[in-house]
Amino acid sequence: MTLTAGVIAVQGDVSEHATAVRAAAAAHDEPADVVEIRESGIVPDCDVLLVPGGESTTISRLLTEEGIAPEIKTHVRAGKPVLATCAGLIVAARDTGDDRVEALGLLDVTVERNAFGRQKDSFEAPLDVDGLEEPFHAVFIRAPAISDVGDAEVLATWEDRPVAVRDGPVVGTAFHPELTGDHRIHDLAFFETD
Ligand code: GLN
Repeated sequence: MTLTAGVIAVQGDVSEHATAVRAAAAAHDEPADVVEIRESGIVPDCDVLLVPGGESTTISRLLTEEGIAPEIKTHVRAGKPVLATCAGLIVAARDTGDDRVEALGLLDVTVERNAFGRQKDSFEAPLDVDGLEEPFHAVFIRAPAISDVGDAEVLATWEDRPVAVRDGPVVGTAFHPELTGDHRIHDLAFFETD
């Protein structure tokens, strides 16, 4: 069976995510088709979805204006996986902490945009992630913090703050798992579902 992976392609690391999904699928002997999503009508054909980083205000506007937001909610209600990273985590949250960013409510978390402060605008950290045997080298770029976790499960923390969570079929990370050539987070989100 071929896995159809849709990447929300407004901005940010689309090809890196495509590479990581293909690598994760190949490790499970599955070919993957990666499709870019900029309009409605494509999400219903996807088995898994990726919401990459970028600017959450811009991504949110596209998802709302193009009618993609309700399709993503339907995808999750059907129990299909989503990986939402950085700005993607912000739009996927129950509370985005910013009126300009519509909350999709896919993850039961509250986020705070750009919360790691100027000193730590961008940083890298070896993260222990539940379900991974070795630390994951995580790249944070103007990352959001997760300030409240409702029913979501915390998969990783950095300096006592949750930075990776799972809520049913949805995995969210405050960092960018597509930038290091390590596809274990994509594997966790799309193939280690329970
Ligand atoms: N700072 C961005 C936002 O708040 C997120 C940054 C990113 O995705 N790397 O939308």
